[in-house]
Amino acid sequence: MPMPNWIKEWIPKDRLVANKFKLSKRYLRNSKKLQFMVGEKFQGTDNWAWFKYMVISKKYGKYWVRYTEGLYECNCPFFKHRGICSHIFAVAQLTDTWPKIETIFPEKNVL
Ligand SMILES: [Zn+2]
Repeated sequence: MPMPNWIKEWIPKDRLVANKFKLSKRYLRNSKKLQFMVGEKFQGTDNWAWFKYMVISKKYGKYWVRYTEGLYECNCPFFKHRGICSHIFAVAQLTDTWPKIETIFPEKNVL
């Protein structure tokens, strides 16, 4: 699926997040930096149920990006603060798999 609107709107509003998005494009230009480790698609679909990627940062070494049914996690320090990072942005664009809004903004999980 394409990038959700809430992410499109979020990126230009937050300078740090915009910077991580810009960085993610660098990872995408060098596919060796994004290594698929393991994962499964929902049966009979092209949609990922879960997966794990290794992202290789020149400066900081290896990071692990995990995705499970709408929830992304990364073991980098920026993720701990903001719930997103350049590594997740890179893997999300590569796999066309995006986080659910409530995994990053829990307060948005209201009907
Ligand atoms: Zn990260």
